[in-house]
Amino acid sequence: MSKPGERQMRPETTVVTAGRSPFDHHGLVNPPVYHASTMLHRTMHALENRTQPYPYGRRKTPTIEALENAIATLEGGAETVLCPSGLQACTLALMSVGSAGDEILVTDSVYGPTRIFCDRTLARFGVTTTYFDPLIGAGIEKLFKKNTRAVFVESPGSLTFEVQDVPAIAAVARAASVSVILDNTWATPLFFDAFAHGVDISIMAATKYVVGHSDAMLGTVTANEAHRKRLRDTHGNLGLTAGPDDIYLGQRGLRTMAVRLKQHQANATRLAEWLSARPEVERVLYPALPSDPGHAIWKRDFKGSSGLFGVELKPCPKEAVAAMLDGMTLFGMGWSWGGYESLIAPTHPHRTATKFETKGPLIRIHAGLENADDLVADLDAGFARLKKAA
Ligand SMILES: *Cc1c(COP(=O)(O)O)cnc(C)c1O
Repeated sequence: MSKPGERQMRPETTVVTAGRSPFDHHGLVNPPVYHASTMLHRTMHALENRTQPYPYGRRKTPTIEALENAIATLEGGAETVLCPSGLQACTLALMSVGSAGDEILVTDSVYGPTRIFCDRTLARFGVTTTYFDPLIGAGIEKLFKKNTRAVFVESPGSLTFEVQDVPAIAAVARAASVSVILDNTWATPLFFDAFAHGVDISIMAATKYVVGHSDAMLGTVTANEAHRKRLRDTHGNLGLTAGPDDIYLGQRGLRTMAVRLKQHQANATRLAEWLSARPEVERVLYPALPSDPGHAIWKRDFKGSSGLFGVELKPCPKEAVAAMLDGMTLFGMGWSWGGYESLIAPTHPHRTATKFETKGPLIRIHAGLENADDLVADLDAGFARLKKAA
């Protein structure tokens, strides 16, 4: 088993090998799942001096350690901690850097519940949040004040899909000793190498592509050397622990993440191109399309494009959108994404620092792993219902 942070193999190999050591477990390919609260110690000395590697179930088990090490290796970070949800990973990362009196800069395109945490909970602990234009780039320097502690980026944003110039933001942040936190759920380390682009703390809602099958909630936070201690302390002090069966589903999903992402990318690209040519569509928000405003930065920084994208329809009544969405046979309606199945939902981005202008209704599509021709046919039938109801 490779050590966390040691990147010896290419990422497609790492997702298969990291955090696994079969001959420690009778040759079993997959590590067993350890359920634990109490761990017995052979002697009082061992108990009092914590000489055993696993003192208590909340802190660490071989199950927790296996996925932590696998993600740390894949990310190329110094240390990973696991959280019971992706949102918890976002809130933990913020709590691990912020102290009363600090200010945190957060992208205006941030995942909604992260924004709510900043506004309603962080604020109560004396940490203020200022939202910034996701397209600000190096210009973020002008927002830095004495008490600015961190910049929170999400690229692309999961509703509006603006690609952020993370290396430019990270360069000015580093010069000002401001930490950079990235919600990397959309790209995963396979498509965006957070630490190589200057990020200090990288987050995944592992619920999405790591788990990959819509059957568990999980979050990961990975820190570089300078941020690992505060992250581990805060994680421990908050008493966070993810359930062993969910962790198992995370490490099981991880093994196929590289091949799944390739297919999500192929299907999303096909749908995005097809949708771009439709008369009912105003624009498609998908950075892999050459027409997308974020395409140049995406091409420079990313190694791929995942399955989630936005579609702005031409102006039409809400009932017409409902007629389209209600009758879909392959696209399910529901939150979250990253599973093997296709999803579709109307979205309503909330902005405070900038305006996100749309002429018509916005929908979000997650391209699953079905055959793309079948997905196209489902959307095509949907547009026929939309036209009929408009
Ligand atoms: C879904 C999501 C989260 C939260 O993950 P949960 O596991 O649902 O709590 C955080 N960030 C982004 C970008 C997401 O899409």
